Amino acid sequence: MENMERLRVLELYSGIGGMHYALKESSVPAEVVAAVDVNTTANQIYKHNFPTTQLLPKTIEGMTLQDFDRLNFDMILMSPPCQPFTRIGLQGDVADPRTKSFLYILDLLPRLSKRPRFILLENVKGFESSAARDALVQTLRECDYSFQEFLISPTSLGIPNSRLRYFLIAKRAPETFSFPVSTEIIEGFPMSESTDSPHNHPTSSASEREKTIMFKLETEEDLERKRKQDSRESVRRLLDFLQEEEDMEPYLLPSKTLLRYALVMDIVQPSSRRSVCFTKGYGHYVEGTGSVLQSCMDVDLEMVFKSLDQLSEEDKLKQLLQLKLRYFTPREISRLMGFPDHFTFPKHISFKQQYRVLGNSLNVHVVSHLIRLMVAK
Ligand code: SAH
Repeated sequence: MENMERLRVLELYSGIGGMHYALKESSVPAEVVAAVDVNTTANQIYKHNFPTTQLLPKTIEGMTLQDFDRLNFDMILMSPPCQPFTRIGLQGDVADPRTKSFLYILDLLPRLSKRPRFILLENVKGFESSAARDALVQTLRECDYSFQEFLISPTSLGIPNSRLRYFLIAKRAPETFSFPVSTEIIEGFPMSESTDSPHNHPTSSASEREKTIMFKLETEEDLERKRKQDSRESVRRLLDFLQEEEDMEPYLLPSKTLLRYALVMDIVQPSSRRSVCFTKGYGHYVEGTGSVLQSCMDVDLEMVFKSLDQLSEEDKLKQLLQLKLRYFTPREISRLMGFPDHFTFPKHISFKQQYRVLGNSLNVHVVSHLIRLMVAK
């Protein structure tokens, strides 16, 4: 064994500990010496699952250079707040107050008495074209790090969930990466057969396309994309992630939601090999926050939607109810996001809070791969 010493890891913006689970999964010998987050709900969940880890419930900018130096860490794992960079957010970028703590970290890095050997950052797609990213890259260059940027979705690992995210891994000189670095952003993992690749999907024939029943407010391209996603055999089916034992009554979509949002929901089935990104409004807002599951397969989805507009509200509802559309449970979403089944929520945390913190978190398997890649010699 070349390095039996455990790396000392600082987990910033720790949330519910997605980075900590990824570190464990990577089997890199390491310990989290401190996790930092201001959110009290997230912190309760973190403490519940990592009772022995030092959790600092404060703002990052509230910590001094000396506080950081004392932690004597070798690695930073961080996912700064992403709202300033999302397409739906206000795109305040470096002017957004939520970016302040991140700029503070960049300011501290050159002044640390010992710069960490490794840095991993996760953020939304969009971060790559922000001024915050430029500031990060500039700081890394000044501090003598080599780095690589990525855009990766869990589908690259055969997980039926889209969550395209920006990642950066950095390594302090003289250590170098085990793969050839590029100034271009790498899409997917380096040197791996990406299942996202558009080349290896059989395109459906014209005759198949004709059979398509246009329903809902979907374009032909949407349908084609979904069909392609469902034909990737390298991606697992959703049913591998479903909770069979649970009482699903609380997760069924209420009638009002069905009537109002039926045409804009992304509906998947247990046999599907895809689901859209679950975000923090899931289970609460319907549009664009995550897929819903058709849990009764005795009725045909397309048939139900085909006949819908001619019906009265009452009959419409009757039709829709047959599908038994339900939300994915927090357990199912945490599985899709790579959390182990021993990850749990304290009893008093509501579903809404569970969905919210999960939506802010990350795919554990993707980050675990990146940690291994970052540390590999
Ligand atoms: N990776 C985490 C989630 C990160 S979301 C997980 O797996 O759950 C961003 C987190 O940053 C949120 O939990 C938010 O509370 C925290 N945060 C935002 N600004 C902060 C600041 N200035 N100091 C400390 N934590 C902050």
